[in-house]
Amino acid sequence: MKLTNDNDKIDLVILNKNMKTSQLLIKNNPCQRTLELQRSHLVYEYSCRKGNCEALNESYIGMTTTKLTRRLTLHLSNGAIKRHHEDVHQTPMTRKNLEEGITILQTEANHTRLHILEALYIKDKNPTMNRQTPDPFTIPTSKDIKLRFRLMAAWPEGGATCPAS
Ligand SMILES: [Zn+2]
Repeated sequence: MKLTNDNDKIDLVILNKNMKTSQLLIKNNPCQRTLELQRSHLVYEYSCRKGNCEALNESYIGMTTTKLTRRLTLHLSNGAIKRHHEDVHQTPMTRKNLEEGITILQTEANHTRLHILEALYIKDKNPTMNRQTPDPFTIPTSKDIKLRFRLMAAWPEGGATCPAS
């Protein structure tokens, strides 16, 4: 693949990074999965595996400071992923759907950096489910939005490579 400009280069770096971090998950190992769900302070991606969704890359990116399993419980009761299952598949979403589709993109203990990372991953991957109405429990306040814009503006050029902590 020939790189044509700096943006392509940045995208490629992110892709490689994601492949590395997604290997943290050993999907067919239930023990490993249980451990992953107990982790907190991370950016995660949910990829729908139903019907054509896998081919269409239907996904959602979010962050949590609580344990991932607790965040998934919130997704079961409300939000974009639940609506996706109801609207697109006309079936209720199960916890199994959620747990099978979730991937930890990156962990980050520092809250500010975690917010930046989430914003960068969303900006980079532009996940389909994030483009719809935001989840009621994740609607940022105007203060949050201002903070995020300041952080994005302050992030150095090339920072989109999401440096590992
Ligand atoms: Zn789907």
